[in-house]
Parts: sequence; structure tokens; C-alpha cells
Amino acid sequence: MRRASLLVCLGMAWVGSVAAADYSGPLFDAHLHYNDEACVHTAPSPGCPHPKADVLERMNKSGVRAIIANSRPNDGTFALASATDLTRAAGVTVVPFVRLYRNRADYSNWFRDPTIVDMVNAELARGTPAGPYRGLGEFHLYDSANANGPVARQLMALAEEKGLAILAHVDDVAIDLLMAHTKAASADRAASQHRDFRLIWAHTGIGGTPAQRVDELFARYPALMGELSYRPGLTCGDGQLCPDWRALLLKYPGRFMIGSDTWVNQRWLYYGELMQGYRTWLGGLPADVARRIAWDNGAKTFGVATPAR
Ligand SMILES: [Zn+2]
Repeated sequence: MRRASLLVCLGMAWVGSVAAADYSGPLFDAHLHYNDEACVHTAPSPGCPHPKADVLERMNKSGVRAIIANSRPNDGTFALASATDLTRAAGVTVVPFVRLYRNRADYSNWFRDPTIVDMVNAELARGTPAGPYRGLGEFHLYDSANANGPVARQLMALAEEKGLAILAHVDDVAIDLLMAHTKAASADRAASQHRDFRLIWAHTGIGGTPAQRVDELFARYPALMGELSYRPGLTCGDGQLCPDWRALLLKYPGRFMIGSDTWVNQRWLYYGELMQGYRTWLGGLPADVARRIAWDNGAKTFGVATPAR
């Protein structure tokens, strides 16, 4: 008996030394799309894979308590923001962003199409039943030089003027170019009235921007935040953070957020696994840092109350 209990004790100590408990608190999904093919308009049917009740159930089961909703077209975000009974029952707060895309063609044309600015202004004026839009994006720049186009300049100025966030899928060069259009890049930013402006870097460099370069940009721009879906090199074989990213998240615990990026329906199918993956590596961080990245950073930025449950 004594020998058996010793083995049990040794076993428990071994487990404790290699596997921290998963993060179990609330999650803020800072990169969620509810696009038309998910089933925004149709009644539940075989051709309608993910009606509102389905996606909200997936969020609820995953412990996601707030989302940055941005959708192609904006109807998907408006639908979630309008479903107040369903969102309340699911315990999900919707933080709406204006997406720049009415259709797939806009992905590669928005930066040279002045009607996008008109559409954004019309959406901002309309608002949503869940409150005013809080940001613009996600937008993509496959050629960072287009960050200097007229539409990108106008939208960055608009976001800063109105205290909106920007969610941008861009490379590190475009971060510098976009920030150059704002006062957030200037030395007097602390005294400016634009404190609510944020540039959220979708994926924090999906092309694999080295952690050292990310560090440089974060040091240069206090208004820069990083969302971590699809980030290459973030986690290593055991599902825990790779050393360079662990160091970066510990250096800037107030600047990172997690996200699902449900850009195709397949991502809805694996929504639970995606969130569990975050919970695994969040559990390897100090508890206060995990909580900030999982929830507090998004909740504080957008004034979302922490849920009781
Ligand atoms: Zn996305």
C-alpha cells in the first residue's frame, strides 16, 4: 500500500511539473466574422450551416463572453448585434466593427474605391442595436504600398478622429505606413484627444514577422495591439508558447488578444478546438497575464463589463 501511494504521489508531482492547468476564465474573441455563407439571412436548413443560434452556442460552450464582430457584408454583424435576446441568453457581448467588404471583390479593391468611405460613414451613422460601431476592419493589404492610398489615409484619419479601432491584416511595413497617417505616431500622443484609437494588428504578422520586429513596432507605437490567430511560430510542439513569443507576451501583457478568424465555415466547425488551443497555452502563462490576454485587454479597450458567470 505504502509503495502504491508513493507512486501515486510521484505521478501527481510529475504531471504537475510538465502540464499547467488550462486557462478557465472568460475569453474575448477579437477577430470574429459572421459572413453571408455561414447563414446570416436564411432560416435553419441543410443549406444553412451556421444560423445565429448555432454560432452563439459555439461561443457560449467555449466560454467566449465578448466578440469583435466584423462580417462580409456588414449584415452578419448587424444580425448578431440585433439578436439581443439570443446574445443575452448566450452571455455574449457584441462589439461591432464596420467591415470594408460588401463582397469578395472588395478585398483587393477597397483601398482605391472611394465608395468604401461612403459605405463606412453610412454604417457609422446607422449604428447597431448593440450600440455604435467601435472600429473599422478587418481589411487586408496584400501590397503594403497601398497603405498610402487615399482610402487608407481617410479611414485612418477617420478612426483617430472618432476614437475607433482599426483591425488590419497587413505586414510590418504597412504598420509603419498606416501609423504615419495618425497622430498616434507623434511624440505628443499622450496629450492628444485620441486616446481611444487603436491599431489592432490582425494575426500580428501572418507572414511570420520575426518576434524582434514585432517588439520594435510595439515599443514604437503604444496604440498598437496584436491579435494572435494564425500567427506562425506562436506555439511549439506541446501546444505551449514558443520561447520568443512567450517572452514577447510577458513583455507586453496589456497589448495582445486572442481571436478565432471565422473567415470560412470550416472555422466554425472547429471553433471549440480553436478556443481550447488558446486555453492550453494561456494556462502556461502567469495567471494575471493569461487573464489579460484572454479577456481584460479586449474588455478594457471596448468597455465590456466582466460577466458574473
Ligand atoms: Zn479575418
